[in-house]
This record gives sequence, C-alpha cells and structure tokens, in this order.
Amino acid sequence: MDGSRRTALITGITGQDGGHLASLLHEKGYRVFGLIRGQHNPRRDDVERDLPFVELLEGDVTDPTSLVRAVETSSPDELYNFAAISHVGYSFNHPTLTMEVTGKGVLNVLEAVRLSGRAERTKIYQASTSEMFGGMDYSMPGSGYNEQSQFHPRSPYGVAKLYGHWIAKNYRESYGMFVVCGVLFNHEGERRGTEFVTRKITRAVARIHLGLQDTINLGVLWPKRDWGYAGDYVRGIWMMMQHHEPDDFVLATGEAHSIEDFLATAFAKIGVGDWRPYVTFDPALTRAAEVDNLLGDSSKAEQVLGWRREVGFDDLVTRMVAHDLADQRLRHGISPLTPPVVPADVTAPPVETAPELP
Ligand code: NAP
Repeated sequence: MDGSRRTALITGITGQDGGHLASLLHEKGYRVFGLIRGQHNPRRDDVERDLPFVELLEGDVTDPTSLVRAVETSSPDELYNFAAISHVGYSFNHPTLTMEVTGKGVLNVLEAVRLSGRAERTKIYQASTSEMFGGMDYSMPGSGYNEQSQFHPRSPYGVAKLYGHWIAKNYRESYGMFVVCGVLFNHEGERRGTEFVTRKITRAVARIHLGLQDTINLGVLWPKRDWGYAGDYVRGIWMMMQHHEPDDFVLATGEAHSIEDFLATAFAKIGVGDWRPYVTFDPALTRAAEVDNLLGDSSKAEQVLGWRREVGFDDLVTRMVAHDLADQRLRHGISPLTPPVVPADVTAPPVETAPELP
C-alpha cells in the first residue's frame, strides 16, 4: 500500500453522514474503513452496493473491545465518530440506550484510541449537535447560537450528546489528543433516514404525487430548524479535521424555517398550493419537551476554515423531492411519462430527475 495514503475509520457508516463522508474521503484518495454493528445488519447490503470501496469492520460503540480491535486493524489517521441513537423522538422512548450509545459510546471510542497507543497519531471527530443548545428563548443570541453559547439540552439525545461533547473536550485537554467537536445544526438530503421529519415529508409528497399514499401524519408544525445540506456539512467536517489545531466549530446556514415552511415548500414542488388536505396531526408524534427554535451562527467556521454552505433551503427541498420522486417511480415501476395523481390537473411535474449525489 502507498505509505502516504491516509486512512479513515468512520463509525455510523450506514447513516446519512457516514455515506456522504465516505464518498468524499474516497474521492480524496483515502483508504476508508467503516464500523458496522450487529451480526446481521440489514443496511450492510446498502453500504456494499453504494460504497463498495469501504472496508467494513464489525463493532459496536457500546462494546469497547470491538472498538480497540477496529482501531488496531485500521490504524486510522482520522476517526470520525458518527455512531449514535440520533433521533430525538426515539431518545425519549429509549433514554438509557441513548445514553449508552450516544453518550458513553463517545468515551469508549476515545479510550479505544488511547489504549491502542494511537493517542498522538489518530485525529478524532466527535459529532456534536445543535440539540445541545435546546432553543430556549432566553439563551439564543439574535444572530443564532455560536461556539460561546449556553447549553440547555431538552431531550435525552441532547443530554447524551452534551456528555459526549464534554468528554471529547476533556480528552483533548487532559491527554493532548487531536479531538474536534463539530456542533452541527440539522442537515438533510437524499440519504436522510425516512424516520426524520424532512425525509418523511419529501417521501410522502412524492408518493402522494404518484398516487401511492393519500396523507401524511405529522406532529406539531411550528418548531423551527436551521436546515442545511449534508454534503456541505461533511465537507466542513473534513475541513475541521485538517485545521492545524483541534477546536470546536458550529456549522449552520443562519436561516431557520418551520416544519410548516418545509411542508409548504415540498408540496409546492409538485404543484400543490394548499397542503392542508394531505396532512393529519398525530398527537403521538409530539415530544415531552419541544425545542422551539434553533438558529446557528457559523461565522467562526467561515472565517477560520473558509467553509461556506452551497445549497440553500429551497434547493435542498428540490433535491430531496426530486430524489424521492425518482426513487418511488423506480421502486413501483412507474414511468416518468405517467401523469401524476395529485394534483390531478398538473401533467408535467415540476421536478423530474434526481440530481447526482455529491
Ligand atoms: P444517522 O443517519 O442516524 O446514523 C447513525 C449511525 O449510528 C448509523 O450508522 C447507526 O448504525 C449507527 N449506530 C447506532 N447505534 C450504534 C452502535 N451501538 N454502535 C455503532 N454504530 C451505531 O445519523 P446522521 O444523520 O448520519 O448523523 C451522524 C452523526 O451526527 C450522529 O451522531 C448524529 O447524532 C450527529 N448529528 C446529526 C445531525 C443531522 O442533522 N443529521 C446534526 C447534528 C449532529 P445502524 O444502521 O446499525 O443503526
């Protein structure tokens, strides 16, 4: 093997960011390892098909031995820790598991690197989150949360991530390890899991358009999020890891939109102005504590790293609806020439082909 070729290990390789980052690193010439859990992970086939260059290693962030083995096998220059129970609603129903994976799992990753004797050779990225801020009115600066803002997590997920964030910083300070914490606001895209509200909406909009479903069940529509594109954000993650010193960086777009805005924008892509007949409220989807508004300020990443997001809100929704239309047509054998069912008077859907994944 070429001795100058850099090696990366990604935990959470089956997730959205794992897929985007693996592709980016492969393009940059890295040897890419991915940690996959379970004796029969149903998403293994997807990784083998979509990311054939990734070398899979079995392991689980709740199993320290498996992590030591993965680190020793891959000897990574860069380790990206994406593994998490990452769905806020799910974390309310599974708080103990969330703490084990999303919180203590970070400690297990840090220790695996340290105990493998790679503390000075492996850079680590920890996937921190805007959910650590909690969106309380009193705490959000007008320009949005930045690296100095106060934390007030409002879910088991946010609390577990805050533990991960501080233990990562603690290893940076205590052992001099190169540990970066990226505090990322919501980022979405074609690879987003269908359990997350944005993808749930774009998939449903595509299916309603094609006559495959009638309505979509959602919880409250007023919470606002700062939604960016995952491809832009993994580029920022990589830039953080190339910086000369480990630090914390916020990545955000600086624009917040409500779930209702997202819904209206997605339905507009198929020519539907009034989305209300297609949406039902499901009280089971409300959370014990809501986060009202998350807006981020990524000035530091822009100034220090030169990072810029390229995809805006409208483009993001267009990409996701286009992808889901193409995907649903393919899955159900529906020709692009078949007229849509909703709205009945529109024959040429405004969004036809899925853009290339970056
Ligand atoms: P995601 O799609 O939900 O992926 C989570 C990954 O974690 C999956 O690959 C999952 O594997 C893996 N995982 C779960 N439990 C595990 C365990 N015990 N051991 C090993 N792997 C495990 O999340 P994402 O959107 O790519 O986000 C990547 C990271 O960034 C996450 O830590 C997330 O919390 C954080 N983050 C995301 C956002 C966002 O908007 N996307 C914003 C801020 C921070 P399985 O397939 O086996 O379940």
